[in-house]
Amino acid sequence: MKRKEILLSSIFIILIASSSTYFLSLENKNSKKELDVMKKEESVLSYIENQEEYNPEYQIFYEQIRYREEENFFNEINTLLDLNYTPEDINNIYDYLRPENREKILSMEKVELKNYYSISNFEVEKIARYEEYQQKNNYTLTEAVLKVNIGLDHDFYTEIEPIKNKEEYTVLVNKYRSLEDYVPTDLKSLSYDTKYMLREQAADAFEKLVSAAKLDNIFIRPYSAYRSYEYQESLYEHYVNQDGKELADTYSARPGHSEHQTGLAVDVWSEGATEIKESDAKWLQDNSYKYGFIIRYTKENESITGYIEEPWHLRYLGIEIATDVYNKGITYDEYYDLCIK
Ligand SMILES: [Zn+2]
Repeated sequence: MKRKEILLSSIFIILIASSSTYFLSLENKNSKKELDVMKKEESVLSYIENQEEYNPEYQIFYEQIRYREEENFFNEINTLLDLNYTPEDINNIYDYLRPENREKILSMEKVELKNYYSISNFEVEKIARYEEYQQKNNYTLTEAVLKVNIGLDHDFYTEIEPIKNKEEYTVLVNKYRSLEDYVPTDLKSLSYDTKYMLREQAADAFEKLVSAAKLDNIFIRPYSAYRSYEYQESLYEHYVNQDGKELADTYSARPGHSEHQTGLAVDVWSEGATEIKESDAKWLQDNSYKYGFIIRYTKENESITGYIEEPWHLRYLGIEIATDVYNKGITYDEYYDLCIK
Protein backbone atom coordinates (compact mmCIF):
# COMPACT_ATOMS: atom_id res chain seq x y z
CA MET A 1 0.00 0.00 0.00
CA LYS A 2 1.22 3.46 -0.75
CA ARG A 3 1.61 5.86 2.10
CA LYS A 4 -1.35 7.93 0.97
CA GLU A 5 -3.59 4.84 0.93
CA ILE A 6 -2.40 3.80 4.36
CA LEU A 7 -3.15 7.24 5.67
CA LEU A 8 -6.62 7.22 4.12
CA SER A 9 -7.53 3.78 5.41
CA SER A 10 -6.34 4.56 8.92
CA ILE A 11 -8.47 7.71 8.91
CA PHE A 12 -11.36 5.54 7.79
CA ILE A 13 -10.78 3.02 10.58
CA ILE A 14 -10.54 5.77 13.18
CA LEU A 15 -13.77 7.24 11.89
CA ILE A 16 -15.63 3.93 12.14
CA ALA A 17 -14.21 3.18 15.57
CA SER A 18 -15.07 6.56 16.98
CA SER A 19 -18.56 6.61 15.51
CA SER A 20 -19.38 3.18 16.90
CA THR A 21 -18.16 4.17 20.38
CA TYR A 22 -20.29 7.25 20.02
CA PHE A 23 -23.38 5.14 19.23
CA LEU A 24 -22.51 2.66 21.94
CA SER A 25 -22.26 5.38 24.52
CA LEU A 26 -25.58 6.79 23.28
CA GLU A 27 -27.19 3.40 23.72
CA ASN A 28 -25.77 3.06 27.20
CA LYS A 29 -27.04 6.47 28.08
CA ASN A 30 -30.50 5.53 26.84
CA SER A 31 -30.70 2.28 28.70
CA LYS A 32 -29.37 3.97 31.82
CA LYS A 33 -32.11 6.55 31.49
CA GLU A 34 -34.68 3.78 31.05
CA LEU A 35 -33.33 2.05 34.13
CA ASP A 36 -33.65 5.21 36.19
CA VAL A 37 -37.24 5.61 35.09
CA MET A 38 -37.87 1.96 35.75
CA LYS A 39 -36.70 2.11 39.35
CA LYS A 40 -39.38 4.64 40.06
CA GLU A 41 -42.05 2.63 38.29
CA GLU A 42 -41.06 -0.58 40.08
CA SER A 43 -39.40 -3.29 38.09
CA VAL A 44 -40.51 -6.86 38.49
CA LEU A 45 -37.22 -7.77 40.18
CA SER A 46 -38.24 -7.01 43.74
CA TYR A 47 -41.43 -9.02 43.26
CA ILE A 48 -39.94 -12.10 41.67
CA GLU A 49 -36.70 -12.30 43.69
CA ASN A 50 -38.05 -14.52 46.43
CA GLN A 51 -40.39 -16.55 44.25
CA GLU A 52 -39.77 -19.98 42.81
CA GLU A 53 -40.08 -18.51 39.28
CA TYR A 54 -36.93 -16.42 39.83
CA ASN A 55 -34.26 -17.25 37.27
CA PRO A 56 -30.90 -15.67 38.23
CA GLU A 57 -29.80 -15.57 34.57
CA TYR A 58 -32.62 -13.14 33.87
CA GLN A 59 -31.83 -10.74 36.73
CA ILE A 60 -30.70 -7.89 34.43
CA PHE A 61 -33.89 -8.28 32.36
CA TYR A 62 -36.16 -8.35 35.41
CA GLU A 63 -34.77 -4.94 36.34
CA GLN A 64 -36.09 -3.53 33.07
CA ILE A 65 -39.50 -5.16 33.04
CA ARG A 66 -42.35 -3.29 34.70
CA TYR A 67 -44.26 -5.24 37.29
CA ARG A 68 -47.95 -5.92 36.55
CA GLU A 69 -50.60 -7.37 38.70
CA GLU A 70 -51.62 -10.10 36.32
CA GLU A 71 -52.29 -13.73 36.93
CA ASN A 72 -49.37 -15.92 35.88
CA PHE A 73 -47.21 -12.85 35.21
CA PHE A 74 -43.90 -14.34 36.38
CA ASN A 75 -44.32 -17.50 34.31
CA GLU A 76 -45.33 -15.48 31.28
CA ILE A 77 -42.34 -13.14 31.36
CA ASN A 78 -39.99 -16.11 31.80
CA THR A 79 -41.56 -17.72 28.74
CA LEU A 80 -41.22 -14.48 26.76
CA LEU A 81 -37.59 -14.14 27.81
CA ASP A 82 -37.01 -17.78 26.80
CA LEU A 83 -38.43 -16.83 23.39
CA ASN A 84 -35.83 -14.02 23.17
CA TYR A 85 -38.20 -11.09 23.60
CA THR A 86 -36.37 -8.08 25.04
CA PRO A 87 -37.57 -6.34 28.21
CA GLU A 88 -38.73 -3.48 25.99
CA ASP A 89 -40.78 -5.91 23.86
CA ILE A 90 -42.27 -7.37 27.01
CA ASN A 91 -43.27 -3.98 28.41
CA ASN A 92 -44.93 -3.16 25.09
CA ILE A 93 -46.66 -6.51 24.93
CA TYR A 94 -48.31 -5.81 28.27
CA ASP A 95 -49.05 -2.19 27.37
CA TYR A 96 -50.55 -2.72 23.94
CA LEU A 97 -51.53 -6.29 23.15
CA ARG A 98 -55.01 -7.67 23.72
CA PRO A 99 -54.93 -10.62 26.16
CA GLU A 100 -55.84 -13.13 23.42
CA ASN A 101 -52.84 -12.04 21.32
CA ARG A 102 -50.59 -12.20 24.36
CA GLU A 103 -51.75 -15.69 25.12
CA LYS A 104 -51.06 -16.83 21.57
CA ILE A 105 -47.52 -15.47 21.35
CA LEU A 106 -46.55 -17.49 24.42
CA SER A 107 -46.81 -20.63 22.33
CA MET A 108 -45.40 -19.27 19.05
CA GLU A 109 -41.91 -18.57 17.85
CA LYS A 110 -40.83 -14.97 18.36
CA VAL A 111 -42.66 -12.52 16.08
CA GLU A 112 -41.73 -8.95 15.21
CA LEU A 113 -44.48 -6.90 16.82
CA LYS A 114 -43.23 -3.34 16.76
CA ASN A 115 -45.42 -2.22 13.82
CA TYR A 116 -48.53 -3.61 15.46
CA TYR A 117 -48.58 -1.98 18.87
CA SER A 118 -50.72 0.89 17.58
CA ILE A 119 -53.15 -1.40 15.69
CA SER A 120 -55.62 -2.64 18.27
CA ASN A 121 -57.57 -5.05 16.02
CA PHE A 122 -54.62 -7.07 14.74
CA GLU A 123 -54.55 -10.83 15.36
CA VAL A 124 -51.11 -12.25 15.90
CA GLU A 125 -51.68 -15.45 13.89
CA LYS A 126 -52.55 -13.41 10.78
CA ILE A 127 -49.30 -11.41 10.61
CA ALA A 128 -48.00 -13.20 7.50
CA ARG A 129 -51.32 -12.54 5.70
CA TYR A 130 -51.29 -8.84 6.69
CA GLU A 131 -47.82 -8.31 5.33
CA GLU A 132 -48.42 -10.17 2.10
CA TYR A 133 -51.69 -8.31 1.47
CA GLN A 134 -50.14 -4.96 2.36
CA GLN A 135 -47.29 -5.39 -0.12
CA LYS A 136 -49.54 -6.72 -2.88
CA ASN A 137 -51.97 -3.80 -2.67
CA ASN A 138 -49.89 -0.93 -1.39
CA TYR A 139 -52.08 -0.46 1.68
CA THR A 140 -50.95 0.90 5.02
CA LEU A 141 -50.56 -1.82 7.59
CA THR A 142 -53.66 -0.54 9.42
CA GLU A 143 -55.73 -0.85 6.23
CA ALA A 144 -54.32 -4.30 5.48
CA VAL A 145 -55.15 -5.53 8.98
CA LEU A 146 -58.77 -4.40 8.69
CA LYS A 147 -59.26 -5.90 5.22
CA VAL A 148 -57.58 -9.19 6.05
CA ASN A 149 -59.62 -9.47 9.25
CA ILE A 150 -62.78 -9.14 7.15
CA GLY A 151 -61.36 -11.88 4.89
CA LEU A 152 -60.77 -9.80 1.77
CA ASP A 153 -57.36 -11.33 1.01
CA HIS A 154 -59.32 -14.44 0.06
CA ASP A 155 -61.98 -14.68 -2.65
CA PHE A 156 -65.60 -14.23 -1.59
CA TYR A 157 -67.22 -17.47 -0.41
CA THR A 158 -63.88 -19.08 0.43
CA GLU A 159 -62.54 -19.74 3.94
CA ILE A 160 -66.12 -19.56 5.23
CA GLU A 161 -66.61 -19.72 8.97
CA PRO A 162 -69.85 -20.67 10.73
CA ILE A 163 -71.20 -17.75 12.78
CA LYS A 164 -71.15 -18.36 16.53
CA ASN A 165 -73.25 -15.46 17.81
CA LYS A 166 -76.23 -15.94 15.49
CA GLU A 167 -78.78 -14.77 18.07
CA GLU A 168 -77.07 -11.46 18.84
CA TYR A 169 -78.55 -8.29 17.40
CA THR A 170 -75.01 -7.28 16.39
CA VAL A 171 -74.39 -10.43 14.32
CA LEU A 172 -72.26 -9.91 11.20
CA VAL A 173 -73.26 -11.85 8.09
CA ASN A 174 -71.26 -11.62 4.89
CA LYS A 175 -69.66 -13.73 2.18
CA TYR A 176 -67.16 -15.19 4.64
CA ARG A 177 -69.57 -15.92 7.47
CA SER A 178 -72.47 -18.37 7.31
CA LEU A 179 -75.64 -18.60 9.39
CA GLU A 180 -76.08 -22.20 8.19
CA ASP A 181 -79.69 -23.27 8.82
CA TYR A 182 -80.30 -20.81 11.67
CA VAL A 183 -83.87 -19.67 12.40
CA PRO A 184 -84.43 -16.73 14.79
CA THR A 185 -86.61 -17.54 17.80
CA ASP A 186 -88.40 -14.21 18.25
CA LEU A 187 -89.79 -13.47 14.79
CA LYS A 188 -92.80 -11.21 14.75
CA SER A 189 -95.16 -10.25 11.93
CA LEU A 190 -95.25 -6.62 10.95
CA SER A 191 -98.64 -5.14 11.74
CA TYR A 192 -98.51 -3.37 8.40
CA ASP A 193 -98.50 -6.67 6.50
CA THR A 194 -98.43 -9.95 8.41
CA LYS A 195 -96.63 -11.88 5.69
CA TYR A 196 -93.44 -9.97 6.55
CA MET A 197 -91.59 -10.94 9.71
CA LEU A 198 -88.69 -9.45 11.63
CA ARG A 199 -87.22 -10.14 15.04
CA GLU A 200 -89.15 -8.40 17.76
CA GLN A 201 -87.00 -5.30 18.37
CA ALA A 202 -86.39 -4.83 14.66
CA ALA A 203 -90.11 -5.13 13.87
CA ASP A 204 -91.03 -2.47 16.46
CA ALA A 205 -88.24 -0.17 15.27
CA PHE A 206 -89.27 -0.58 11.64
CA GLU A 207 -92.84 0.47 12.39
CA LYS A 208 -91.54 3.58 14.10
CA LEU A 209 -89.40 4.34 11.08
CA VAL A 210 -92.34 3.97 8.67
CA SER A 211 -94.51 6.29 10.83
CA ALA A 212 -91.74 8.88 11.12
CA ALA A 213 -91.21 8.80 7.36
CA LYS A 214 -94.93 9.47 6.86
CA LEU A 215 -94.66 12.66 8.92
CA ASP A 216 -92.02 13.80 6.40
CA ASN A 217 -94.30 12.85 3.50
CA ILE A 218 -92.18 9.82 2.68
CA PHE A 219 -94.32 6.75 2.03
CA ILE A 220 -92.54 3.40 2.08
CA ARG A 221 -93.53 -0.22 2.55
CA PRO A 222 -91.68 -3.48 3.16
CA TYR A 223 -91.38 -5.92 0.30
CA SER A 224 -89.03 -8.48 1.83
CA ALA A 225 -88.07 -9.12 5.46
CA TYR A 226 -87.14 -12.43 7.12
CA ARG A 227 -86.14 -15.12 4.62
CA SER A 228 -85.41 -18.71 5.62
CA TYR A 229 -82.35 -20.64 4.44
CA GLU A 230 -84.53 -22.68 2.10
CA TYR A 231 -86.24 -19.64 0.64
CA GLN A 232 -82.87 -17.95 0.03
CA GLU A 233 -81.66 -21.13 -1.62
CA SER A 234 -84.49 -21.12 -4.16
CA LEU A 235 -84.17 -17.35 -4.67
CA TYR A 236 -80.42 -17.58 -5.36
CA GLU A 237 -80.95 -20.54 -7.70
CA HIS A 238 -83.55 -18.59 -9.59
CA TYR A 239 -81.13 -15.69 -10.09
CA VAL A 240 -78.28 -18.01 -11.10
CA ASN A 241 -80.51 -19.60 -13.76
CA GLN A 242 -81.52 -16.16 -14.93
CA ASP A 243 -78.17 -14.31 -14.94
CA GLY A 244 -75.41 -16.86 -14.27
CA LYS A 245 -73.52 -17.32 -11.04
CA GLU A 246 -71.02 -14.49 -11.41
CA LEU A 247 -73.64 -11.80 -11.89
CA ALA A 248 -76.09 -13.32 -9.39
CA ASP A 249 -73.39 -13.16 -6.72
CA THR A 250 -73.19 -9.39 -7.05
CA TYR A 251 -76.79 -8.87 -5.96
CA SER A 252 -78.07 -12.04 -4.31
CA ALA A 253 -76.64 -13.81 -1.30
CA ARG A 254 -75.98 -17.52 -1.31
CA PRO A 255 -78.08 -19.48 1.21
CA GLY A 256 -76.74 -19.05 4.76
CA HIS A 257 -75.16 -15.71 3.84
CA SER A 258 -78.20 -13.46 3.59
CA GLU A 259 -78.81 -10.81 6.23
CA HIS A 260 -82.50 -11.48 5.70
CA GLN A 261 -82.06 -14.84 7.43
CA THR A 262 -81.18 -13.02 10.67
CA GLY A 263 -84.64 -11.43 10.80
CA LEU A 264 -82.87 -8.09 11.14
CA ALA A 265 -82.99 -6.91 7.53
CA VAL A 266 -85.83 -5.49 5.52
CA ASP A 267 -86.08 -4.25 1.94
CA VAL A 268 -88.38 -1.31 1.27
CA TRP A 269 -90.09 0.09 -1.78
CA SER A 270 -91.78 3.39 -2.26
CA GLU A 271 -95.54 3.14 -1.72
CA GLY A 272 -97.31 2.37 -5.03
CA ALA A 273 -94.04 1.52 -6.81
CA THR A 274 -91.88 -1.55 -7.35
CA GLU A 275 -88.66 0.29 -6.55
CA ILE A 276 -87.37 2.83 -4.09
CA LYS A 277 -87.62 6.38 -5.42
CA GLU A 278 -84.53 8.52 -5.17
CA SER A 279 -86.05 11.01 -2.75
CA ASP A 280 -87.22 8.18 -0.49
CA ALA A 281 -83.80 6.53 -0.64
CA LYS A 282 -82.28 9.87 0.36
CA TRP A 283 -84.62 10.13 3.35
CA LEU A 284 -83.67 6.59 4.42
CA GLN A 285 -80.00 7.37 4.05
CA ASP A 286 -80.29 10.46 6.26
CA ASN A 287 -82.75 9.17 8.87
CA SER A 288 -82.70 5.38 9.25
CA TYR A 289 -80.04 5.42 11.98
CA LYS A 290 -82.39 7.39 14.24
CA TYR A 291 -84.60 4.30 14.36
CA GLY A 292 -81.74 1.80 14.63
CA PHE A 293 -81.18 0.91 10.97
CA ILE A 294 -78.25 1.32 8.60
CA ILE A 295 -78.08 1.18 4.80
CA ARG A 296 -75.94 -1.92 4.65
CA TYR A 297 -74.77 -1.90 1.00
CA THR A 298 -73.56 1.39 -0.45
CA LYS A 299 -71.93 2.24 -3.75
CA GLU A 300 -68.57 3.25 -2.32
CA ASN A 301 -68.26 -0.01 -0.40
CA GLU A 302 -68.96 -2.54 -3.11
CA SER A 303 -65.44 -3.95 -2.95
CA ILE A 304 -65.80 -4.62 0.79
CA THR A 305 -69.33 -6.02 0.87
CA GLY A 306 -69.20 -7.75 -2.51
CA TYR A 307 -72.69 -6.44 -3.36
CA ILE A 308 -73.79 -3.69 -5.69
CA GLU A 309 -75.46 -0.82 -3.87
CA GLU A 310 -78.86 -1.54 -2.34
CA PRO A 311 -80.39 1.70 -1.07
CA TRP A 312 -83.53 -0.26 -0.18
CA HIS A 313 -81.88 -2.77 2.16
CA LEU A 314 -82.06 -1.77 5.83
CA ARG A 315 -80.26 -3.63 8.57
CA TYR A 316 -81.34 -3.26 12.20
CA LEU A 317 -78.60 -2.74 14.80
CA GLY A 318 -80.32 -0.69 17.49
CA ILE A 319 -80.14 3.08 17.71
CA GLU A 320 -76.81 3.34 19.51
CA ILE A 321 -74.77 1.19 17.14
CA ALA A 322 -76.61 2.32 13.99
CA THR A 323 -75.85 5.93 14.94
CA ASP A 324 -72.20 5.12 15.53
CA VAL A 325 -71.88 3.29 12.20
CA TYR A 326 -73.62 6.21 10.47
CA ASN A 327 -71.29 8.77 12.07
CA LYS A 328 -68.17 6.78 11.27
CA GLY A 329 -69.32 6.31 7.67
CA ILE A 330 -67.89 2.81 7.38
CA THR A 331 -69.37 -0.57 6.44
CA TYR A 332 -70.71 -2.82 9.13
CA ASP A 333 -68.04 -5.36 8.15
CA GLU A 334 -65.38 -2.84 9.18
CA TYR A 335 -67.29 -1.61 12.20
CA TYR A 336 -67.72 -5.14 13.48
CA ASP A 337 -63.99 -5.79 13.35
CA LEU A 338 -63.08 -2.47 14.96
CA CYS A 339 -65.79 -2.08 17.58
CA ILE A 340 -67.80 -5.27 18.21
CA LYS A 341 -65.65 -8.37 17.82
ZN1 LIG B 1 -82.27 -7.00 1.16
